[in-house]
Amino acid sequence: MFTAAFGAPETILLAGLGGLLVGSFLNVVIRRVPLMLEREWALQSAPTPTEAIPSEATPSEATPPFNVIEPRSHCPHCLAPIRARHLVPVISWLALRGRCASCATPIGARYPLVEIGTALAFAIVAARLPFDLSLLDALLVTGFLIALAMIDFDTQYLPDQLTLPLLWLGLAASVFAPLAPGIDPSQAILGAIAGYLSLWSVYHAFRLLTGKEGMGYGDFKLLAALGAWLGTQAILPIVLLAAIAGSIVGLIGIFVFGRDRNQPIPFGPFLAAAGWLVMTFG
Ligand SMILES: [Zn+2]
Repeated sequence: MFTAAFGAPETILLAGLGGLLVGSFLNVVIRRVPLMLEREWALQSAPTPTEAIPSEATPSEATPPFNVIEPRSHCPHCLAPIRARHLVPVISWLALRGRCASCATPIGARYPLVEIGTALAFAIVAARLPFDLSLLDALLVTGFLIALAMIDFDTQYLPDQLTLPLLWLGLAASVFAPLAPGIDPSQAILGAIAGYLSLWSVYHAFRLLTGKEGMGYGDFKLLAALGAWLGTQAILPIVLLAAIAGSIVGLIGIFVFGRDRNQPIPFGPFLAAAGWLVMTFG
C-alpha cells in the first residue's frame, strides 16, 4: 500500500514533529471547546444582569475570557500555571512521570497519546500525499477530525464551532487548492449536500421505523464537511466503513463488555476515522 508513497523522508519527519505540536494544541481544543459551549449555554439561560443578584461586577470581570488561548494552560486540580518547559509534547509528560509539577496530581496518559496519534497521522498523510497545497489541506482536515472524534467520544456532541468551519474551509479549498484532483467547487458543493442528506435520510428513516434516534445533527454536518473536501464519490465508502466499524465496536461492547444496548455510542469518531482513511488511502 505504501509503494505509491509520495513523501520524502524529511517531509514525513517534519510532518510528524509538527503533528506533536499540533496534537498538544488539539488537547487544549478537546478539553476547552466543550467547556466553552457549556459556559455559553449557562450564560444564555442565566437571568439577565438586571434580574440577577445586584453586583458591582462588570460583565468583563464576571466572565473572564475563556477560549483556546486564554487563560494560560494550568493544572485543573491545583490551578498552577504550567511552565513553558513543561509544555514540550510527550517529553514533559514523561519527565514529570505523568504528574503535575506543583501538586503531583496524575495527568492522564491521553494527553501524550493524542500528541503521538496526531504525529503518526500527520506522518502517514505526508507519506501518502504529494508535497503541495493538498498536503496542507489534508493535515488541516486531520487536525479537525482528531479534535471532533475526541470531543464526540467525551461528550457525544460534535460542536458546530468545528464542523461548520471544516465545511466552509472545504468549500473554499475547492476554489483555491483542492485536496484531490477533480474536487472543483461544483463537486465540493454536491459532496456537502450528499453528505448531509444521506445521513439525514437514514436518521429519519431509522426514527420512523424504530422510534429511536440513532445519531445527531452533528453527524450530518461532519459528513457534509467531509463531502465538501472529498466529493460525492467519497460519501458511500465513508458511511459504509463507519457503519461497519461502529457495528463491530457496538457488538463487542454489548457482548464482551456487557454494555447496555440502549446506551448510544457516538458515531462521530467512526465517521471521522472513516473520512480520514478514505482521504489518505483513497
Ligand atoms: Zn496541579
